[in-house]
Parts: sequence; structure tokens; C-alpha cells
Amino acid sequence: KGSLAVVGTGIRTVGQLNGDTIARLKTASKVFYLVADIVGEQVIKQIQPAAESLGRFYRLGGARKEAYDAMVERVLSAVRDGHRTCFAAYGHPGVFAFPTHEAVRRARAEGYDAIMLPAISAEDCLFADLGVDPANPGCVSHEATRFVLYRKPIDPTSALVLWQVGSFGDPTYQPQRNRGRWIHLLVERLLEHYSPSHEVTLYEAAIFINCPARIERIPLGALVDAELSPATTLYVPPALRDELDDETCGALSIRSEHLK
Ligand code: SAH
Repeated sequence: KGSLAVVGTGIRTVGQLNGDTIARLKTASKVFYLVADIVGEQVIKQIQPAAESLGRFYRLGGARKEAYDAMVERVLSAVRDGHRTCFAAYGHPGVFAFPTHEAVRRARAEGYDAIMLPAISAEDCLFADLGVDPANPGCVSHEATRFVLYRKPIDPTSALVLWQVGSFGDPTYQPQRNRGRWIHLLVERLLEHYSPSHEVTLYEAAIFINCPARIERIPLGALVDAELSPATTLYVPPALRDELDDETCGALSIRSEHLK
């Protein structure tokens, strides 16, 4: 009977591909992949020369959602054919990724065993490279377009991570840089809570060994002119300090000097 394992290659595949993932790739009878770089592709092909790219379902200017549906259908057809199927995506396969979760849901709904394994996401790299701990003072992640479309509440006492700023406002597939056509709408929304001089970071984790990450700090007001790529994540640090609730502190007998 067919089964499905959805795995992630990490961001810098050489080095971040974990043991569980390698084992799943090795033991699968059919491997599909959706990765963002040529080295990641080579690494998968070394383990499974017959691995099949799902990238071919993207059409330039076509709706990403349509491509995702076709990918899921392709993966499910292998599961139904009885394959021990492995679907590898870059980063963490369950983080800001649609077809991976959908493939697991569909496989389970059709009565097949399906599992997703965690891996290193872009945000994991961000925490390490920017020296940010989401515990203190708290951190909120949003998909940039959804963040504005649904007017998600903003909490300037927490850090804010905005994903997919490079495809802001655009549900189609566009692999090139500088697609910030509507980015001013994101900036306007952020300016409701942050000043134009508030320093934000354009972040692109290194995907190859010996290549530096892109860590570019700019004032929020300059974001409209920034170069954005499909791999750009925007980090907005907190603008306000946390306020301690004295009453709760008293009830818990916690003194502020005990807190980090
Ligand atoms: N599953 C992936 C994310 C896919 S969504 C993961 O676990 O990281 C694509 C978004 O991820 C991009 O728009 C960007 O916000 C972020 N991203 C992908 N590659 C990145 C990189 N090298 N550096 C920083 N962010 C990246």
C-alpha cells in the first residue's frame, strides 16, 4: 500500500539536511521535490537520481494556487499507485507552505499513512543570524499579503516577521527580483504603528556554504525602494517596551530584577 512522507531540506541544504530526511529520501520508491536552488536539487538527485521536480507545474504569471493543486495531484497519484512516496520541500515543509500540508491531508483522507517531518526554516536561520529570541519580547509571524489583506492586529511590543514580502499583493508565480509593485500598501499599514525611521531588516539566509546572508538594515520609510526577491523576509523589531503588570507581579511574588 502507498504512503507519504513530507520532508524538508532546510535552507542551506548541504549541512541542514537532517538524518531523518536523508533516510526517508533513501528508502522511498518515488521522490518528488520542490526546492529553490540548484545545489538543493543536486543533493536530492545524488540520493535519488530518479527524483522528480514539481517546479515544472509553475507557469510564469500563472496562479500559484493552480500550480499547487497540480503538484498535490501528482504526489497523490504516486501514493495511489502504491509508492512509498517522499515529497521534499525546501526549508521546513510545514512552514509557509501549502502543497505539503495539503498532500498530507488528502493522503490521510484517502486512507493512506502520511507523515510530515520538521526541518530548518528560514525563520530558524533568522533567529540565529539576527540574534533574535522569539521568547523575549515575543515574536509574531505573518504572510505579508495576508497581514495587510486581513488587517491583522499589530503589537509593536513584539517583533514582527513578514514572509513573502517579495511577492506582496501578487498571487501569481514570478521568480525574479524587484516585484515590489504594491509594497507601498504594506509600508502604509506599518506606518500606522511604526515611525518611518524605524529600522527594519531585509533578511536572506545563506543558501550556499561560504556565501554570506543578506542582512540589510534600512529605515521603514525606505522599504518602498528596496530590492526584494522571492527569498526576502522582513524583520521588524519591536518599537515599544513591554510594560510589566505590577498586580500580577505582586500575586506571583516576582520582582522585576528576577526577570530577563
Ligand atoms: N518552507 C519555507 C518557506 C517557504 S515560503 C521555510 O521553511 O523557510 C517562502 C518565503 O520563505 C519567502 O518569501 C521568504 O519570506 C522565506 N524564505 C525563503 N528562503 C529564504 C531565505 N533564504 N532567507 C530568508 N527567507 C527565506
